[in-house]
Amino acid sequence: MYRFPIHEELVEGEITILQEAIAKETVAVEPSDCPVCQGNEASSFVRLSDYEYSTVDQSFAFVSCQRCALLRLNPRPRVDQFNKIYPSNYHPFNFSKGKSIGYWARDLRDRLIIRKYRKYLLPGARVIDVGCGDGGFLKLLKKYGHRSYELSACDLNDAILNDLESEGVRIYAGDFLEQEVPAAYFDFVVCFHTLEHVPDPVSMLKKLASSLKPNQGKLVLQVPTPRGLNWLIFKGKYWSGYHTPRHFWLFCFEHIEQMAKQVGLRVVTARTIPSPGFWMQSILNMLNDLDVRPKIKKHFDINQKPTPFISLVGLTFFTLVDILQSLIFHKTDTLEIIFEKSDI
Ligand SMILES: [Zn+2]
Repeated sequence: MYRFPIHEELVEGEITILQEAIAKETVAVEPSDCPVCQGNEASSFVRLSDYEYSTVDQSFAFVSCQRCALLRLNPRPRVDQFNKIYPSNYHPFNFSKGKSIGYWARDLRDRLIIRKYRKYLLPGARVIDVGCGDGGFLKLLKKYGHRSYELSACDLNDAILNDLESEGVRIYAGDFLEQEVPAAYFDFVVCFHTLEHVPDPVSMLKKLASSLKPNQGKLVLQVPTPRGLNWLIFKGKYWSGYHTPRHFWLFCFEHIEQMAKQVGLRVVTARTIPSPGFWMQSILNMLNDLDVRPKIKKHFDINQKPTPFISLVGLTFFTLVDILQSLIFHKTDTLEIIFEKSDI
């Protein structure tokens, strides 16, 4: 089996074995070690392009940690290159604009989530959404939650934060790790589909934990996870959870649990949740790579407005598939874990 070069060989600009790939690159990269076990030895798993946004003309490798089997992007884009790999039409930044089926599906899902979390969201609860994307979750809390909630948001996108600020949300602009967030302050911390994007997930979890109130405070984490039918079918190339080159880590439950222990977090519950949009994006990635005509592809794009009929059927079908596989096998593409502070 082809062995991917270990850390010492992955020095930026001096990589011999990767010269061919780097010669085509337009984004500067850096090596990454495993954040779970600190291992640097890994096996090649898959090499991919940005099938979703075509932001860069280069391919990236996911490698599998030889100690803990975490899949990680190595080398990965440097943080100062993020403006190149997150385009202005990046979907979490504009998902709430317009009433696409993607918006409605997420709205329904979030309403159910809010209902499920109601026991943690007592009147006066202090809530922060770290990596708030388009702010949809906080807006839903404003819409369906108690008016006494104190809401905060952290993200990199100024336009969205300004919008939220005008609605009375306290904002933290920029990298969460650099924010002066009060310690032991929040009752409810959400971090949806963000941990896999950050270069240092352990420090991120540590900061999330420090912001959480001891005893009753809860942290809810959602991450894509390489389990389930969509993964099995599309893992060779088009699985949407790769989200190359914006996802740096593909965590399984055990990886998250191990990191959480290091920072004093205890798992309260863990489950898989339906991810029909992931299925549709895997199909769209395949169609993009096969250079299928835009006229056909747009039927599979859940962000199209008005919502294409095929997307509507696909989302409904894959929701049912995911509910079934979640009930029977406890597997889908999204893992949701609720934590509280442990005694250590
Ligand atoms: Zn590892």
